[in-house]
Amino acid sequence: MRRISVFGATGSIGESTFDLLMHQGGLKSFHTVALTAGRNVARLATMARALHAEVAVCADETCLPALRAALAGSGTEAAAGPAALAEAASRPVDWAMSAIVGVAGLQPGLLALQQGATLALANKESLVAAGPLMLATAAAHHARILPVDSEHSAIFQALTGEDIAAVERIILTASGGALRDWPLSRLAQAMLADALAHPNWSMGQRITVDSASMFNKAMEVIETREFFGIEPAQVEVIIHPESLIHAMVGYHDGAVMAHLGATDMRHAIGYALNWPTRQPLPVARLDLAAIGALTFRAPDLARYPALRLAREVMAVRGLAGAAFNAAKEVALDKFIAGAIGFMDMAGLVEATLDKVSTEASLAKAATTLEDVLGMDQLARRLANQAG
Ligand code: NDP
Ligand code: MG
Repeated sequence: MRRISVFGATGSIGESTFDLLMHQGGLKSFHTVALTAGRNVARLATMARALHAEVAVCADETCLPALRAALAGSGTEAAAGPAALAEAASRPVDWAMSAIVGVAGLQPGLLALQQGATLALANKESLVAAGPLMLATAAAHHARILPVDSEHSAIFQALTGEDIAAVERIILTASGGALRDWPLSRLAQAMLADALAHPNWSMGQRITVDSASMFNKAMEVIETREFFGIEPAQVEVIIHPESLIHAMVGYHDGAVMAHLGATDMRHAIGYALNWPTRQPLPVARLDLAAIGALTFRAPDLARYPALRLAREVMAVRGLAGAAFNAAKEVALDKFIAGAIGFMDMAGLVEATLDKVSTEASLAKAATTLEDVLGMDQLARRLANQAG
């Protein structure tokens, strides 16, 4: 029986993963080693009971008494705190889902790779902040990373059976987010509620704002470069309002392979869960005649300065991705809190990268977890001072 763990089980990706695990037989098909959450004790305990998990862990230490009570008599061990999370992530498994949000997801993923696990990687921050470290860890331990971000799963699928050397370009599609039809002159006045009205995907608040600002796409451009090992100039972004093509791979004979599917993360999660086979998934099927038309337009860099910043980050590489992600997190927090405007987020990120470069080397290679987390802390501190 396949041994699995889910890090970030109670989040949006974690819930979809749980749904698929249950759909594919639950505890009859999987031996669940670890399920983890931040603080959501009740939901974590329910999942742990349903899957007979060996251990359930809350990252927040203060949750331990409540988790123990919720798991009483279940046979699942309750644990909490950073050391317990690391211990759980180090337990050998065949497959682990990395779905914690933020750089907190980096260490559990690395620990699973060190055990030789196949890591289904939803956590974007891992590749943006520490791409070379993730790939080197996987290679050193004969582990495998399977992308779960929908665009990267789409690219991975469009590359099946192909030689990466034949790839000319990779095209990421972007919905353009909630504000794509606003005039540029009004964007500076956009409020949180405006940025949250996402046209296609139903996601958490933070990723929805990142979608409107295209910081999400900027992260994905960096992820693409790191994961697939291609040159930054080979990664393109196109606005595709219908969000039905998730990504395209263009080959040097001019052919373009596109991946289409409904906007449901269970596609990409299910693909990573069943790879290298495909299993039936409980997702909507596309009715192309009803859809009628797929449309595209080039992104305007004046509207989306995050895309320009991604290019600068890729040119420096090293720890620049860690600084970029941390500064973006702070800028997003400030926008959500109403402290800065929508178009000020990119300015704050750019100013932070400049400041960081006067105190530390952005180009220093991201070779250890400590280097990456150190840069994350530095960039957060400077971004907070800047605003
Ligand atoms: P959510 O915020 O919905 O869930 C995050 C999960 O991580 C929850 O289980 C949460 O626990 C846990 N968590 C939060 N903070 C910590 C912490 N400090 N330490 C340990 N665990 C913590 O996020 P999503 O599921 O939306 O996203 C997860 C990752 O996947 C992100 O990196 C995101 O960018 C990426 N992603 C998400 C997509 C989506 O459609 N949602 C699409 C593509 C990528 P608790 O519930 O207790 O707070
Ligand atoms: Mg995505």
